[in-house]
Amino acid sequence: MQRAAPQTFDRVLSSMCTRPHPAARNAAERFLATNPGDPATYQTVAALEEDALAYLAEITGLETPHGYITSGGTEANIQAVRAARNYLARDDPNVVAPESIHFSFQKAADVLGVELRTVPVDDDYRADTDAVRAAVDSNTIVVAGVAGTTEFGRVDPIPELTDIAHDAGALMHVDAAWGGFVLPFTDHEWSFSHAPIDSMTIDPHKYGQAVVPAGGLLFRERDVLDALAIDTPYLESASQASLTGTRSGAGVASAAAAMRELWPTGYRDVYETQQANAEWLYEQLVARGYETVEPELPLVAAELPESEFESLRDLGWRISRTGSGELRIVCMPHVTRDSLRAFLSDLDSLSPV
Ligand code: PLP
Repeated sequence: MQRAAPQTFDRVLSSMCTRPHPAARNAAERFLATNPGDPATYQTVAALEEDALAYLAEITGLETPHGYITSGGTEANIQAVRAARNYLARDDPNVVAPESIHFSFQKAADVLGVELRTVPVDDDYRADTDAVRAAVDSNTIVVAGVAGTTEFGRVDPIPELTDIAHDAGALMHVDAAWGGFVLPFTDHEWSFSHAPIDSMTIDPHKYGQAVVPAGGLLFRERDVLDALAIDTPYLESASQASLTGTRSGAGVASAAAAMRELWPTGYRDVYETQQANAEWLYEQLVARGYETVEPELPLVAAELPESEFESLRDLGWRISRTGSGELRIVCMPHVTRDSLRAFLSDLDSLSPV
């Protein structure tokens, strides 16, 4: 049987994952056979999870960290909705979110039996606060906003959305799965220090440079996390808040190691490099006459004819499209100016300017 070649990132421009930091890779290897789902038995990795949560709290402006390292943003978003549903115990619960919300919320609504109400975004792809206000009612359990949208890298008006949520007696959830490790170096108002938000998703396995799987779920109040806990009679530990039972100790240890290594200087350097790459790519695409969305975070979206998109894929570029058809390029830590130059050179060879 042939051995599969290891994953290379040279031509990967669509993914929100990246090459892990060497310290994260080493830590992952050392904890491959541990289970933070049973912290009383696996005490070392449980302590590393506390470290990881303390870093996440510092990054997001949360005073006391309550939460856990999830399998990714999907689990974190499902669990945020589940916690709110259990905590508020409303009849016919609904979640209100902009249409730019990640598709994991559809899964959350489906498995939890909660209605998902998506409302339009404004001309700059951000949640339209009037539309959100009109959609909430006394059955709303969560208003969700995104800090770093998957398709256009936009940041919703989090303080305004938090007011709307709390006026309705609902909880405010911020999905910073992708944006959470770059936003601290911007002026955006997105974190626990900007508004009394109730929960947040922030994923070490994306911009945090941990190995997969390592997501993050944080709560401002312990009570809301506790609304997830169930008794676990056969384990050494008495209860469990996570959705999965056995969890990846590798992910947890790697998250702690990556943040120990990179917060804040390493993350700041990556943000500055990749924001500059995104702005450079934007200018290059505009100069070639492509309709391009200005990057607010390191993500560029541009209108590209289908034939060119397919030819670039045939040339080995790993690229994807938004729901409305734009090419999207995510400037993750593995993306270099040289790889963007090579990409543009292939693009130019398809459509001479
Ligand atoms: N939330 C946002 C904003 C995302 O961009 C993504 C994935 O890209 C997710 C949630 C889901 O994360 P995961 O794929 O780790 O489950």
